[in-house]
Amino acid sequence: MENADNIYRQLKEVITDPNRILSNIEDLCSYSFDASFGSFLPEFVVQVTSADEVSKVMKIANKEKVPVTPRGSASSLSGGPLPVKGGIVLDVSLWNDLLLIDPDDLVAVVSPGIITARIDEAANKYGLMYPPDPSSSNISTIAGNLAENSGGPRGLKYGVTKDYVLGLEFVTPEGNIIRTGGRTVKNVTGYDLTKLIVGSEGTLGVITEATLRLLPKPPASETLMAIFDDLISSGKAISKVLSSGIIPSKIELMDQASIRAVEDYQPLGLPLDAEAILLIELDGHPSAIRDEIIKVKEIMDLTGAIQTVIADTEDEAKELWKARKLVSPAIVKTKPTKISEDATVPRSQIPEFFKRLNDIKKKYDVSLVVFGHAGDGNLHPNIICDKRDKEEMVRVEKAVAEIFKTAVELGGTLSGEHGIGTMKATFMELELGEHGVDMMKRIKQAWDPNNIMNPGKIFPEKGQKLVLSE
Ligand SMILES: Cc1cc2nc3c(=O)[nH]c(=O)nc-3n(C[C@H](O)[C@H](O)[C@H](O)COP(=O)(O)OP(=O)(O)OC[C@H]3O[C@@H](n4cnc5c(N)ncnc54)[C@H](O)[C@@H]3O)c2cc1C
Repeated sequence: MENADNIYRQLKEVITDPNRILSNIEDLCSYSFDASFGSFLPEFVVQVTSADEVSKVMKIANKEKVPVTPRGSASSLSGGPLPVKGGIVLDVSLWNDLLLIDPDDLVAVVSPGIITARIDEAANKYGLMYPPDPSSSNISTIAGNLAENSGGPRGLKYGVTKDYVLGLEFVTPEGNIIRTGGRTVKNVTGYDLTKLIVGSEGTLGVITEATLRLLPKPPASETLMAIFDDLISSGKAISKVLSSGIIPSKIELMDQASIRAVEDYQPLGLPLDAEAILLIELDGHPSAIRDEIIKVKEIMDLTGAIQTVIADTEDEAKELWKARKLVSPAIVKTKPTKISEDATVPRSQIPEFFKRLNDIKKKYDVSLVVFGHAGDGNLHPNIICDKRDKEEMVRVEKAVAEIFKTAVELGGTLSGEHGIGTMKATFMELELGEHGVDMMKRIKQAWDPNNIMNPGKIFPEKGQKLVLSE
């Protein structure tokens, strides 16, 4: 950056504590990566703790045309918080002073750096719940969840982050502080800017506060594990449950590769020859869900499960869920690089998607592991590889492209919850078409005329291709 000294001087005038402006190389390196792929150094990191500070930083950046990348905990799997054009990383993770639960209005009001799981925990004390539960909820910030419109296992019954956002405060790229929505359940005043900001991946503004909807916490839950010796049958079992009138709160899947990886990592006694394990949770009134879990078991047995187990106690349920929780750490024991996709298909296409993923695995000879939120069609095909092996990475690139193409062909989407970031930008047109992408670019241009807000994300640059092999 040519005018770095000048920018630094201006930042020091608006950030009261100079220790919250970082510019030495060790600090910059630790802000150069996320949980996806690639590493890019920013020129400065500014750790903001108020909307007023964000507004002042944005005004400087907009005047000087310096890129600004908002960042929560950097657990993104799509490259969202990577400062690909350098400039300023705006870190909101220290900004966690507000976590207010209002049981009368059934809302939570939170600052952007609050860790997601803390919101649900705080709501639980009032007999309430905050349903969105990304598997990263113990590390991710609510701002990151809002920017990515994150989902989680409970999305099957309860929906995703966007379904719980009543209002936002955010700062525009030009530095203006705006409020959208509020505490009311209904609000149709003008365009729905709240919905536009949620899922915009930090490309339209900086979220500085959120008002979130809470629900009464269901009094009981039931957990069932079903084991299949055939992956396609497990897909059919999911479709059968969902068309039976029962809506589980979670249906999670582990394929054979994930089962084996977990057993290698921490032996739990899972059957190594099984092709799929389904974990199903129901929540609601105790007597209603007791009847329903028996019906779910019958469906599993009829669709070809070789074994089913219903947890009798909370501890047994926890033990059954342990296997699913261990998949992510277990699969990276075999090779160091994990390309984590979240292509999503309509529920009826789950069996066909399984079949096609298996074909892709064989065609490109890649180590493809499938697990995730199967109940809502949001499978997580993960390719485990070694980024130092260029020949392997070329095959991985081709397999990833074919996974996206397949998901779109089956009426699905590139991303159910991880976002587009840098990793999927080149595939946007595949799903949205030329005019769809163009309309989004026009919205971006209207909000951010100097293109300083998280540049290099969502939209592909001319000639850009997915490159994992460099
Ligand atoms: C092990 C693991 C499991 C995961 N499981 C899930 C899952 O089940 N479901 C799921 O949806 N995701 C999951 N993720 C992905 C990730 O955790 C989510 O995308 C999460 O929302 C990111 O939050 P974060 O605080 O880490 O944000 P970051 O990664 O720091 O940033 C994410 C995006 O938010 C933007 N951003 C951050 N703060 C702001 C702000 N204040 N204003 C505007 N934009 C902002 C950034 O620019 C970036 O584009 C998982 C990740 C890991 C590593």
